[in-house]
Amino acid sequence: MHDVINPATEAVIATVPSTSREETDEAIERAHAAWPAWRAVAPGDRAVLLRRFSDVVRDHVEELAQLEVANAGHTIGNARWEANNVANVLAYYAGAPERLFGRQVPVAGGIDITFQEPVGVVGLIVPWNFPMPIAGWGFAPALAAGCTVVMKPAEVTPLTAIRLGELALEAGIPEGVLTVLPGKGSVVGQRLVEHPLVRKIVFTGSTEVGEGVMRGAADHIKRVTLELGGKSANIVFADSDLEKAAATAPYGVFDNAGQDCCARSRILVERSAFDRFMELFETAVQGVRVEDPLLESSEMGPLITRAHHDTVSGYVPDGAPVAFRGSCPAGQGFWFPPTVLAPVDPADRAFREEIFGPVVVVTPFEDEADAIRLANDSDFGLSGSIWTRDLGRGLRVARGVESGNLSVNSHSSVRYWTPFGGFKKSGLGRELGPDAPDAFTETKNVFISTED
Ligand code: NAD
Repeated sequence: MHDVINPATEAVIATVPSTSREETDEAIERAHAAWPAWRAVAPGDRAVLLRRFSDVVRDHVEELAQLEVANAGHTIGNARWEANNVANVLAYYAGAPERLFGRQVPVAGGIDITFQEPVGVVGLIVPWNFPMPIAGWGFAPALAAGCTVVMKPAEVTPLTAIRLGELALEAGIPEGVLTVLPGKGSVVGQRLVEHPLVRKIVFTGSTEVGEGVMRGAADHIKRVTLELGGKSANIVFADSDLEKAAATAPYGVFDNAGQDCCARSRILVERSAFDRFMELFETAVQGVRVEDPLLESSEMGPLITRAHHDTVSGYVPDGAPVAFRGSCPAGQGFWFPPTVLAPVDPADRAFREEIFGPVVVVTPFEDEADAIRLANDSDFGLSGSIWTRDLGRGLRVARGVESGNLSVNSHSSVRYWTPFGGFKKSGLGRELGPDAPDAFTETKNVFISTED
């Protein structure tokens, strides 16, 4: 058993069982046993079940959101969006079973067709930063493709995952098709990676653990999708709408207290606009409302744990080049104020490492080529933004930055109907978008002779 703690109050809010290795094996075997019947459900009927699952989640949005505020310290506004995202993703992929098309390929002497066959049991390993959406991005397309899923939430944020598992059963998803196993990464997560009956791993988490998952999967040539760390650039050109770029920049990095793989945690500003940007940015940062996440007005909550608070603090030692900071509540809870470090050299660890907290570095650049060079001066390549009024430049820079998800004059990067994933050490494969179910299938080619 382990305690679940509210990061805004430090109160113990639940005690959750830690699944053992033996129990994990049993759950994998049950998921494997449930697979033939689930894949045999007619496409239209599987679609109906997924639509029903979506409806049941939608009916419980407020309950799920409240649970996430208490367990993860997310603001209530964000948590409602996240619960709705699960319902939306389920509804979107409810359209997939009837569209899991193969192809007909021209050949002589017969007909050649392909089938998208489900891979089997999928192990879904979820981090603590967005417990609900990341779960849904994995299980919805996997279930649509005819796979069964064993999902392991992060140790510290199991509550919404457990509830989603119950809601699946309530919606009529058969036993064993979606199993939720709270527990340790080194026990449940590792067993999912090692167990031969698990045919694919979808892992979201740190690059370090992801490397181990990929290594373990290699023993079985197990399929993997990896969504890992980020250190994304927010590139601000002097010709941009500077007021808008500065006003939105805090939300591009401090949303979810910076615990966002897509956080634009390196702001690169064209030198001629640097001072003006910093002036506008300071006002914007000081306007971020860091407060009790249950308040409707709250824009940022606490960090997830005391240990994580210590890690983030390590990036702001005495003597760090703090340009300015926002505010945060004092007292109980793992609060950390929005913090701006500038100017920061690209060799500095605050520029290079994923801090995963509300700490952003600001660095000047000289011209377009320099901006692209600096943006790409990273092991990661997940997300990023480009601010300019020159559309040609916006496109050139978007094509030049080695990153999976870019936005021009905006910080939006995740829509469930567009593909999402990372370049370089930010990951492998893509989630979401119209093709996500294919990542849970094998292509089978069948030739049928028409000769006498
Ligand atoms: P983490 O790597 O510590 O843990 C992620 C999950 O892996 C947890 O469920 C954990 O229990 C499990 N795990 C730990 N050890 C394991 C092992 N040996 N085998 C199998 N599973 C194991 O990451 P975290 O701290 O929970 O999450 C933060 C990280 O996730 C950040 O680096 C962030 O950038 C990344 N992230 C990436 C994306 C993306 O889409 N690219 C999205 C969200 C978070």
